[in-house]
Amino acid sequence: MKMSGYKVLIVDDEKAVKQLLVELLSSKGHKCETASDGVEAIDKVAADKFDVVVTDIAMPNMDGIVLTMELSKSYHDLPIMVMTAFTNEYSAKEAVEAGASDFIGKPFSPEEFLLRFHKMMSVNEIIFLSKKDHLTGVFNRKKFVDELRREIERTVRYGQRLSIVMFDIDRFKDVNDNYGHQVGDYVLKEIARVTERNIRKIDIFARYGGEEFIILMPSTDIEGARSLAEKLRMKIEAHKFGQLSRITCSFGVSEYALNEDEENFIRRADVALYSAKNKGRNRVEILAPETV
Ligand SMILES: [Mg+2]
Repeated sequence: MKMSGYKVLIVDDEKAVKQLLVELLSSKGHKCETASDGVEAIDKVAADKFDVVVTDIAMPNMDGIVLTMELSKSYHDLPIMVMTAFTNEYSAKEAVEAGASDFIGKPFSPEEFLLRFHKMMSVNEIIFLSKKDHLTGVFNRKKFVDELRREIERTVRYGQRLSIVMFDIDRFKDVNDNYGHQVGDYVLKEIARVTERNIRKIDIFARYGGEEFIILMPSTDIEGARSLAEKLRMKIEAHKFGQLSRITCSFGVSEYALNEDEENFIRRADVALYSAKNKGRNRVEILAPETV
């Protein structure tokens, strides 16, 4: 995420407010789109990627509180700023409880709006960075576990499938010992890039530990996850890591079993990974739920 040039969705049933905000935010280099109610806003967010939503509360069809609740359910990293028509503590409280990142009372001055808006975006930027692994730029372990809990809930509620691919660089210690940590870091970053290119948008990819990565695959059974792991294994094996000779990874795959907790789910992928190492590395092993 960047600190300027945000893509903003402005939601208000009053044309004048939309116009004012579009002019104001465009003058600061942000790109704006507008919607007139919550229903239209939901459609726009589903169709396009926005960095932030600014919404009115009182609107026809779907109001700003319901919109905020709906958006924060499906897009939990999307900051939402709610404009309350009266500086009523209750509606601001309601907005924050619905998932809004910040609120502003109408009427506001352009200066006040911009201050609030940019302040909210800087806080959001810090929150965003706290979910990332500094070296590779992919998600960190904490963010992965948060997402895993959410996905397990969804999987149980909708009777879907959920799988994990855990992988680890083979003989990574040798890379660090023979070529130094800078080369080791380069290998980690390259593996992250190769992986990002080969997973779906809905997959959650994180660095899990030192040389260990993990992918959470919603709506995917163990065979689907195994094919992805196999594809990734071949892509990494074929990838040219500068002057280095071949780099390979070992993979462990597990699928979520109803009623197990997240630790157990991850542990089964870890056991499969351990078995891939034992069987000679550069391979994929799976551990189906019924085997434990
Ligand atoms: Mg209104």
